[in-house]
Amino acid sequence: MFIVWGTKHKTREPGIVGDRCPTCRSVQPMVVTDHYEAGHIYWISLTQGTYKGSTMRCRSCGGEFHCDKNDYTGFLPPVAAQQVSVDELLQGTNPALLESVEMQANLDLMAMDQGGGQVADPDAQRFSQAVEMMRGRDDDEEGKALMLRLEQWQTLDAAGRTQLLEEVEAYGDQAHRADAAIAFIKQMSTSHPGYAGCVAGFLAFGAPLLLFAAVPATHDWLWGSLLVVAALIFGFVIMNRASHARIRGWVERKLIPMGDQRGVDFTYLIGILYHLSQNKDGVDEKIRDMSQNVELITAILIEHGRIEVEQEEASLRDV
Ligand SMILES: [Zn+2]
Repeated sequence: MFIVWGTKHKTREPGIVGDRCPTCRSVQPMVVTDHYEAGHIYWISLTQGTYKGSTMRCRSCGGEFHCDKNDYTGFLPPVAAQQVSVDELLQGTNPALLESVEMQANLDLMAMDQGGGQVADPDAQRFSQAVEMMRGRDDDEEGKALMLRLEQWQTLDAAGRTQLLEEVEAYGDQAHRADAAIAFIKQMSTSHPGYAGCVAGFLAFGAPLLLFAAVPATHDWLWGSLLVVAALIFGFVIMNRASHARIRGWVERKLIPMGDQRGVDFTYLIGILYHLSQNKDGVDEKIRDMSQNVELITAILIEHGRIEVEQEEASLRDV
């Protein structure tokens, strides 16, 4: 008789929160789901399970994303969430975002007021552009700080305004490059060679073992164990080489030409991949695979002149 046991995935929905959808960028009611892993015998759960993390699902676009439950001050039951406005939902579940939404509304109002005034402020147009550039950037500390300063626009003198606009433009440029690089990584990760080299490695393992079978002289414990060790090392080396060759081919034939075509900033691309390789929580599996090869990808990009190595680093190496 078999005893069927193992672990199974359990979920629980603590309720609805208000949050900004990472995909459609709108502030929406989000259905939060907690994920647990529980032991079972004959598919009957033994425990409540170990908490593994939470996801939220956007009601507008249906996208599902990892989330941190600690970001919310509460959860509303689904029925209650349907009866309140988005602002009320935020008040009860995510007051920090409500503050950001109000700040955005205030900035939009200021931009409108200045544009429609009788005596047009010479900076009015630049102010509107700055507000537009900062839209939805409040989820980043630096972005939020700039938006708070834009709210103080009326109190700034000409020099202060120019200074702030320059900072906003520099931030907007960086954010735009980072967004483009992230979108590009998402797209490229689907064609990244994930388990490359498995077949070659398997064949490499097999070759010494075939020798073992074919040559009777090797049929003793010393030759036998040497061959097994050789097969392991040989297989590993071949697998590694084949995998490197596949990734190199992919970088040279796909990543670089497509990145060039889209004007992707490869320095941002590598910076984001490094970050993802260190912070794997909630990262899509294919993107995680890609980030594991960040060092090899960096080396190939440097070789092809797509990333410039800093002068300081180069001179350090010379010393
Ligand atoms: Zn959405």
